[in-house]
Amino acid sequence: MATLSHRMSEISEKKPTKPVVLTCAQPTGRLHLGNYLGAVLNWGRMQDDYDCYFGIVDQHAITVAHVPAQLRDNTYSCLAQYVACGLDPARSHLFVQSHVIGHTELAWILGCLCPLGQLERMTQFKDKARKHQSVDAGLLFYPVLMAADILLYNAQLVPVGDDQKQHLELARDLAEKFNHRYSDTFHIPEPFISKIGSRIMSLQDPTVKMSKSDPNLSSMVYVTDRPDEIRKKIMSAVTDSTAEVRAGEDKPGVTNLLTIMSACTGRSVATLEAEFSGKGYGDFKKGVADAVVATLDPVRLRYDELIKDREELGRIFKAGAEQAQAVAFRTLSKVNRKVGFVERPR
Ligand code: AMP
Repeated sequence: MATLSHRMSEISEKKPTKPVVLTCAQPTGRLHLGNYLGAVLNWGRMQDDYDCYFGIVDQHAITVAHVPAQLRDNTYSCLAQYVACGLDPARSHLFVQSHVIGHTELAWILGCLCPLGQLERMTQFKDKARKHQSVDAGLLFYPVLMAADILLYNAQLVPVGDDQKQHLELARDLAEKFNHRYSDTFHIPEPFISKIGSRIMSLQDPTVKMSKSDPNLSSMVYVTDRPDEIRKKIMSAVTDSTAEVRAGEDKPGVTNLLTIMSACTGRSVATLEAEFSGKGYGDFKKGVADAVVATLDPVRLRYDELIKDREELGRIFKAGAEQAQAVAFRTLSKVNRKVGFVERPR
């Protein structure tokens, strides 16, 4: 009996395993308000309920022309921005792809299960290939590396935007193929569709998404912008000539600002409409700017501190790499054995 009650208490003390969620982003520079309210803020909220892996995928970033020094700086900056935005190295695994042995190794093995035609049909590959004069094999192989990023940590859930759905589909195919050809090894990853998370539109053309590739810098607020820059951009946001603070398809500019203010304050759009009823766009925009400044100011202050502290960033990189590597080695050694490689002598 003693043994049973001992076992029962052991079971009740044992932490339930949380589903593994993996999110990867290239270190492309500064995050904007759309990235923050639409993605990173929600990733932060997932940290208690899921076992989160946040990968800064620098190996993906060299599939197109890049400047090496800039890639390095962007990788530091990306980590500092993520931490400043609330991704917590103590609760999640924040790592750089090139720091972990296993991503490219697993990609090679998965590549040997992947028909060439399937890669050539990827819409993102076709789009990018059209824009460049010559195309390197890395660009074609990109989705296989992404599949490896996911399967290396046996992720169950992957938050993906529309542009990545086809790549996740490939990761699922390759996981199924591997499981079928060898034996059950990988979870088949599912897309994670968050119910919360706002779609933020350009401040200058509210009919298109706020996007880092927009050449008009007034169209976006960066999470590291100073309050005066934020205010200037919000005050010059495109609205309409009716001076009526109301959401609606006929009012994309005002709707976008209401969405932003609602996401920043946690108050509903209806409440905000009532609050600004009868007031002009000047007052409304000032309210929106105040809300954005209040939301982003702590992010910028934390970022400014961190970006100067390469030692601290180095410690976060190291801890993240160690945690990710432990899992990656386990997966890799299992995969290598199943494929038929002789175990490396220790
Ligand atoms: P990207 O900047 O395209 O690399 O996207 C990084 C993440 O931010 C993805 O999860 C996107 O879905 C999200 N994201 C990008 N732009 C926006 C936007 N304007 N509104 C909401 N989410 C966005």
